Amino acid sequence: MAGRTLNPREVALLTQAILPAVTRARRLHYELSAEFYRDLRARLLGTADDFTIPAQRTYPRDALAEGILATTRNRQPGQPAFDRAVTGAAIRHAGAAGIDVIKDAAAADPAATGWARVHTGLKPPCAFCAMLISRGPVYSRDGAGFAAHNGCSCRPSPVFRGHGFDGDEQYRRYRDRWREATGGHGGRDALNRFRRTMAEQ
Ligand SMILES: [Zn+2]
Repeated sequence: MAGRTLNPREVALLTQAILPAVTRARRLHYELSAEFYRDLRARLLGTADDFTIPAQRTYPRDALAEGILATTRNRQPGQPAFDRAVTGAAIRHAGAAGIDVIKDAAAADPAATGWARVHTGLKPPCAFCAMLISRGPVYSRDGAGFAAHNGCSCRPSPVFRGHGFDGDEQYRRYRDRWREATGGHGGRDALNRFRRTMAEQ
């Protein structure tokens, strides 16, 4: 069904209604991911030095409103697809706090070389995410972005100097698949070829 786009007042009301829950969930995601990073680091490095996990990033005032506006564009309020879009944006914004702290910690940590993208969902990743996963631990400290769509369950996996990373096996699998599917081709053509093999799985 064709929809319409929310007006600014509707966006503001919807944002106001869900912002408290998103803010609480962001805090929780931050704390859980910080704990995950701390534990993994201690386990791999076997040291309890004084590395401090970076503070939670501030959540820009308009970020949620912009996310809601973008994700609900041309969807009819009251329809299931509209509700799914809003929920998806809220979940993505909450999860971003966990993603950010892993990236920030890996960037600040002298023992880390960066991070790799890893898919954590039960269903296979979309072709675009799989392409990013197939690049492996190349996302270094210089603040590479982390593209995430609604429903995306990819996470950054920190990479510590001299150690493997969680998701190494997944990376090799998609790397080989990418090579097989795209052999010799680059750019959009390569991604289209890869998309087709991903759709067959
Ligand atoms: Zn993904």
